[in-house]
Amino acid sequence: MSSATLKFPLDADTIRRELGDLATAFEVEVAAECPSTNSALVDATPPDSGRTHVLVAECQTAGRGRRGRQWQSWPGGSLTFSTLWRFQPGAPVPAGLSLAAGLAVVLALEKLGVQGLQLKWPNDVLINGEKLAGILVELVPGRGRTPAAVVGIGVNLALPPGATIPDQPAVTDLSSHLPLLADRNVLLAHLLRELHTLFETYATAGFGALREAWQQRNAFADLPVRITGDDRRIEGLCAGVDDDGALLVRTTAGVVRVLTGEVSLRAAP
Ligand code: ATP
Repeated sequence: MSSATLKFPLDADTIRRELGDLATAFEVEVAAECPSTNSALVDATPPDSGRTHVLVAECQTAGRGRRGRQWQSWPGGSLTFSTLWRFQPGAPVPAGLSLAAGLAVVLALEKLGVQGLQLKWPNDVLINGEKLAGILVELVPGRGRTPAAVVGIGVNLALPPGATIPDQPAVTDLSSHLPLLADRNVLLAHLLRELHTLFETYATAGFGALREAWQQRNAFADLPVRITGDDRRIEGLCAGVDDDGALLVRTTAGVVRVLTGEVSLRAAP
């Protein structure tokens, strides 16, 4: 897909056209180069225009993951973008938002025909156990305004030959599973549509309304998992997620709830 994606540069008008009736719901900005699309929206949050701001970068030079880790991307070989969502005061707790974003990516790709998609709590997107996409949700301090969240998404489209990524046992790219998708603008519009639909559900009904769909795609359902970080370590069987997005782990001492935060999930030996 690499050469095909390069033939179609990111273009705000094309993205708007592909969004169709949802075009007016978004304000799309394309950057040739950007250190981190999440940092750009967190550090200089655009004023509320009534639309969801989207910043997509041809090349992201200092992409971030959770806990200060790096997100790697390659010009033409990745899709990296961030969106700014505003919620009414009293909206559901943010923990579930991360999971809703992962589910939106999966549902959008399923509609495009990708098979074997899975979710790894809280929000990694996998194909048959290999990491395809990462998501970073960061809250923008309210200061009396409507609460807002920046949702950043990085999708591997075509990994360079021999690419190795620290701390990831296995990674994959979309071109290995969807060779005919040639235009990142089309892919981005699909992802934005699904995010829009799921975040509306989330805002009105909470993560509980999406929980079943998330659990159906849980990569670790009923499998042994190990949670590390936060100065603790929990081992047990993955028992799905709660109504607020907390992970449920069945341990010898009973079911433990783990809230998304400074923790990582891995398969337990
Ligand atoms: P984990 O995958 O350990 O649960 P996380 O969910 O905290 O971590 P993210 O915030 O999604 O991880 O992203 C950061 C991590 O993702 C990096 O530490 C690295 O291991 C991995 N990573 C970085 N770039 C890519 C990429 N292009 N494709 C797949 N994985 C990547």
